[in-house]
Amino acid sequence: MVDLDSLLRQVDQSASELLSLHKELVKIESVNTGQMPTGNESNVADIAKQWLDNEGIETEVVESAPGRGNLIANIPGESEKNKLLLVSHLDVVPVEDAGKWNYNPFGAEMDNGRVYGRGTYDCKGLLASQMLSMAILRRNGLKLSDNLVLVSGADEESGGRYGLGWLVENHPEKIQSPLAINEGGGTHVNVAGTTTYLMGVGEKGRLEIQLTIKGASAHASTPWLGENASYKLSSVLNRIQNYEATKDTSVVIFQYLSSLAIEDVPTPDNIDRIIEGLQSKNPQLASVLRALSRMTLTPTMVRGGIKSNSIPETISLICDVRTLPHQDDRYVLDELEGLLGDMDGVEIDVDYMAIPNSSDYDTEFAHSLKKATEVSLNRTDLNWVPSVATGFTDSRFLRPLGTTTYGFNGMDPSDDPLLNRMHGTDESIGVKSLTTGAKIMLALAIDVLDAH
Ligand SMILES: [Zn+2]
Repeated sequence: MVDLDSLLRQVDQSASELLSLHKELVKIESVNTGQMPTGNESNVADIAKQWLDNEGIETEVVESAPGRGNLIANIPGESEKNKLLLVSHLDVVPVEDAGKWNYNPFGAEMDNGRVYGRGTYDCKGLLASQMLSMAILRRNGLKLSDNLVLVSGADEESGGRYGLGWLVENHPEKIQSPLAINEGGGTHVNVAGTTTYLMGVGEKGRLEIQLTIKGASAHASTPWLGENASYKLSSVLNRIQNYEATKDTSVVIFQYLSSLAIEDVPTPDNIDRIIEGLQSKNPQLASVLRALSRMTLTPTMVRGGIKSNSIPETISLICDVRTLPHQDDRYVLDELEGLLGDMDGVEIDVDYMAIPNSSDYDTEFAHSLKKATEVSLNRTDLNWVPSVATGFTDSRFLRPLGTTTYGFNGMDPSDDPLLNRMHGTDESIGVKSLTTGAKIMLALAIDVLDAH
């Protein structure tokens, strides 16, 4: 019989070890600009591999390109089949203006119970917590029913082409697994004296739309001899600005609004009123509910004209589109056809950047995750809300493989989510969240993999 309490206590006893591992990972500048050569994730992967090797955990660094390492560690189980993936990423976003930071962005400085630096929260905290949870399983010589695999990918911040996207294409057997835990959830909301955890169950999709708007060129001194594409652009923009996306409350979060102290039962008819009522009290939640109740269509770039004295013949307008989990490219095309289909000389090209994706919320795995969180925090009064992210993570590569994937980093309830400043200035993580995250990953692995 596994004594779960004593194993969880070992996490507390390893708190300073966990903190120094985390700091060491943060100090390596694995900045991903999106332009090769970049990332240098192998430098982080090598340090992590060394640490895991010392624990006797089988670990490899698989490079998709020079310097772009992906870390894969495995504690084999009796079936020798993968069952649970602990997922994170090794790269970080650039520091826009280091002068605005109050801390060295790669110093991993401590202040008031927090570690500051780029990547402290996104995503090296989760990685360090997951590493410690594996080490504790190993140190106690526990046997697992199936493999526990840690995957920390390169290039998450710039599309995953050198990271999870590449692993799925080139080494699917290493990461094929029924269950996974990744970033993209696990923060909490404290409302009306209760703690509600958000479990990430899905992500909106992203498409890039190129609209090519055609006119006819002429010399600008006799504009009537041509057809100026800018005027057509203005009609196109006008229609896009007035586009009313169909309201939709089918995303699972809308069934749980009562946990967020919203009393009305949301429908496509009243959702905008609910959002309006929420706006002054909780603008952040209002914005999330707005994004999750419709597709968005947003013009972001315009290119056109070749010379200041020529009537522009072609203008291209790029739009960013974010879709709900059940809206496919056919849906997007139909919407665009409905909006612009009657205009001559407007061509529509759709390019998929990220497919919308989701996992069922009503699963045994979700139940295990809730139990693991309760036991780690020694609380039974937690509320849960399944959330869908407006952005995307590497989970979008795993869910299409049939992997039930939840976003959950296991933040401690005492850690204020607003202080994370993910991708921003003075990014940080509460030290308590590192140990809480490690406990949750450990308790989850013990339950799911029947550790004995
Ligand atoms: Zn991230």
